This record gives sequence, structure tokens and C-alpha cells, in this order.
Amino acid sequence: MQLDDATPDQLQALEARLAADHQAFVDRGLALDLTRGKPSAEQLTLSDALDGILQGDYRAGDGTDTRNYGGLDGLPEARRLGAALMGVDAGDVLVGGNSSLTLMYQAMLVAHRFGLAGPDSAWSRQGTVKVLCPVPGYDRHFTVCEQLGIEMVTVDMTAGGPDMDRVEALLAADPSIKAMWCVPKYSNPTGVVYSDATVERIAGLGRIAGEGFRVFWDNAYAVHDLRGFRPLASISEACARQGTQDSVLQFGSTSKITHAGSGVAFMAASALNLGGFKRFLNACTIGPDKVNQLRTVRLLPDRDALMAHMQRHAEVLAPRFKVVLDTLDAHFADSDLGRWERPDGGYFVSFDTRPGVASAAVALAAAAGVKLTPAGATFPHGHDPLDRNIRIAPSVPTLPELEVAMQVFVTCVKLASVRAALA
Ligand code: PLP
Repeated sequence: MQLDDATPDQLQALEARLAADHQAFVDRGLALDLTRGKPSAEQLTLSDALDGILQGDYRAGDGTDTRNYGGLDGLPEARRLGAALMGVDAGDVLVGGNSSLTLMYQAMLVAHRFGLAGPDSAWSRQGTVKVLCPVPGYDRHFTVCEQLGIEMVTVDMTAGGPDMDRVEALLAADPSIKAMWCVPKYSNPTGVVYSDATVERIAGLGRIAGEGFRVFWDNAYAVHDLRGFRPLASISEACARQGTQDSVLQFGSTSKITHAGSGVAFMAASALNLGGFKRFLNACTIGPDKVNQLRTVRLLPDRDALMAHMQRHAEVLAPRFKVVLDTLDAHFADSDLGRWERPDGGYFVSFDTRPGVASAAVALAAAAGVKLTPAGATFPHGHDPLDRNIRIAPSVPTLPELEVAMQVFVTCVKLASVRAALA
């Protein structure tokens, strides 16, 4: 369908047909949900052996009784799991509670309010604070900045990661930019994997940026491949080559590996950064949930076990991504109504409508009983200046539900596009 070639009469006829199709979905009283990227029940079940796995043996490898207080860095075997997950040295890893988002929030709070390198390094002492946000991006990263009163500066994503010419130019010109969010593998929502050149350039940002700059490297989808393991260039090695080890904080978790609500979160950073972070953490907690760390490591004792487990996730997820991509291909491949990525992993398909159409399409889908993430959610303050990005999260619905939800989706995108062309 090429809307720009259609006459007004043809557009009117198309609108009437699509509106009837849409009404037919409304009449079915559907209740389907393509919003948050959560594991499905089928995926959660893959880790049910966690329950009871300790069989009364609470001792960690070094003899620690995990039921007791203490151990701010996490159990040694949990640090090794984090190291295997993120491709870093175990000595650089701190193991937290169940959420890497909490660690990211806390790390940004420490950098802003207390200073990772001591009180003088606190961003808040230097006036206005800005953070670079590649867009479309992860809504909760933006919420962290919003809550801490940090300004967000957007940078477009490209097929190889953030637009690095723009990133470098912005940093060279503005020392009040203190950080940058990155989801380097299967980026939320575009599914892009940062190219080797992008990783190398990000490792070099610490030399261009002002004092105290930190990259928040949220490697949430490090092993979440749908079609075999896809390597990501090592940011740690690139930083070591360039002498910028203090400029990057890395994060990951088992949230989408084991049970999402009771995973284990990791942060990897230089000794300076971990020291600053732990000064803060020490005031918040006497130690993390080491029993859960031990359960997780018993389930996933080494990288081979981790990768075999992720293969089972892929077997559940891959058919769902196929439904989404096949439906988009069937309806939009030869039209200008949408553009989308073909991710090899992660949890999302990012779909761009024609400008000015996304929120109307999302509203039409809601009226037909299909919940989509609000249009704009992938941009700071929920505002997509071109109103065109929609994040599709296919993991939770069953395959038959997803088939229906995608039929509704394409109908709504077409109807909203035709109405916009008529307006
Ligand atoms: N980072 C990204 C990019 C995510 O997409 C998500 C969840 O959707 C998270 C972090 C949340 O991680 P956690 O469950 O470890 O807090």
C-alpha cells in the first residue's frame, strides 16, 4: 500500500473497509497485552528447579553460611557468574539484589549526589547535569533521570548503535553532560547490537568528556540470543587499551534468565567506582540476599549451563518473534506504512509508523482490546517528537493470542495511517 499515490476517493474507500475490520475486532471483546517485556510463564518454568535446589545446604564454596548477614560484594561464585554473563573479571563484579535497575538507579544517585570518586566529584556540585539518551530507548532509564532532576539529551540510534559523531560532538561541546545510557546488545527496543567500532568509540568518550563522565552500560540482554550466541566487543578491553577504565559502569542480571522477580543483579566497574558505590551501599544494607545468589549459582554453575539454559528460552521466544516479523512482512513489506528491525535477540521489535501516526494506532489497538506500550514511552518524558515509534513485546501472549494481536496491530496501523493521510 502506497498511500501517497492514492486518490481521495480511494483513501475514503480504504478507510471504510479498515474501520469495518477494526470494528469486527472491537466486537470480539479481546483482552491481549503486548506491553512489557516480561518472560512468559513457559519461560519462568524453565527455572522452577530453583525452588528447593539448596536441599538444606546453605554453605557457599568458601564456607560462608549464606543465611546470615554480610558480604557486600556478593558470593565469590555469584561474582563469577556475573563475570561469565558480562565478559568481565570476577574481581570487578559486585552482586546486588534482584534488580539491575536498582543498581543503575543507585549508581546514578551516588554519582550525582555523593560522587563516585569522593564528595568533590559529585555531579550536583557542578551545576546543570545532563545525560545522553540514545532514542528510541528504555523508558525506565529516562525515569531515573527524571526523578533525579537530570536533563536528558537525545541522540538517534543507527544500525550500529548510537550516532557516535553526534555523541562525540555533544560531549566535546558541553562539559555538563555527565553520563550516557547504553543497552549495547539487543538494545531496548531496537534490537540493535553495537558494532565493534561503536564500542571502541564509547570506550574513548572518557577522554573527550568533562570531569566525572560515566557510561551506564546496561547489558541486560547479554546472553538473550534467538539464533546462537552473538558476540559483543568487550568494553572493558577497549577501556583498558584507552586508559578509560573509570568511565564505564556495567550492569546485568538474571531477571530474564531465571525468575524475573527473584533474579540476581550485577554491577562491574573499576576499583575506584566500586569503592565509591560501596561507601553508599554500606549505609543502605548489611548485605544482599546470598541465599538467592547461591540458589542461582547452583542452577547455573558455569557458562555452559547458562548458555544451555538460554537456548531453552530461545526455543520458546523465537516462534513468537517469527509471528511478529512474518505478520509485519506480509502487511507492510511493499508499503511505506512502517519500518522495523529484525532483532536476533532481546525482548522487543521496534516499529516506526509514518510520522504522526503512532499514538492514534495505539489508541485504536486499545479500543480493540490489544494493549500496547504507550506511544512515546521510548523517548524521554514520554514524548516522541515524530510520534512514530511503537515497541512490540511478544514474549507473554501465547502463539494463537499473538497471531490475533498482530492482526489487530496491522489493522490499527493501516487505519491510523489512512486517517492521517485524509486529514
Ligand atoms: N535494562 C533493560 C534494558 C531492560 O529492558 C530491563 C527490563 O526490561 C531492565 C534493565 C530491568 O532489569 P532488572 O530486572 O535487572 O532490574
